[in-house]
Amino acid sequence: MTIINVSIPFGLLKNINDYSKIVNEILRHDITFNILKFTTGSDGVNLLLDIPEEKIKTITESLKQNNIVVNKKGRVIVNIENCIDCGACISLCPTDALHFDEEERLEFSYEKCIGCLLCLDSCPRFAIEEM
Ligand code: SF4
Ligand code: SF4
Repeated sequence: MTIINVSIPFGLLKNINDYSKIVNEILRHDITFNILKFTTGSDGVNLLLDIPEEKIKTITESLKQNNIVVNKKGRVIVNIENCIDCGACISLCPTDALHFDEEERLEFSYEKCIGCLLCLDSCPRFAIEEM
């Protein structure tokens, strides 16, 4: 599975429920997928989706044809100097890329990070940044 971020700019939304346009468009391809995060912001509606790797190209093209913006997500970096080892980010990480070491200090395994960005807003010290 691969993480993608899809969004509909507010200018294209008549109604907040139009976000279902994204879901319906994907369901046309008869796949199983996960919605990891749903957010609304000043720019529009955003969904973080977990999609089968082999369907990424087809679904990306199909969404773009409907003026839906698709971004494959990047990775994060952790500024350990700002980290206070509170653990808030750890419970959100689906891959154990963020975990405590034997001394209860935060450890980040870059190779395990899938770029889902679920941890990004969790840090009270802004120690996690998108690359
Ligand atoms: S981006 Fe996702 S996978 Fe990577 S560290 Fe954050 S929560 Fe874990
Ligand atoms: S949420 Fe921030 S301060 Fe807390 S453990 Fe994670 S990186 Fe460190």
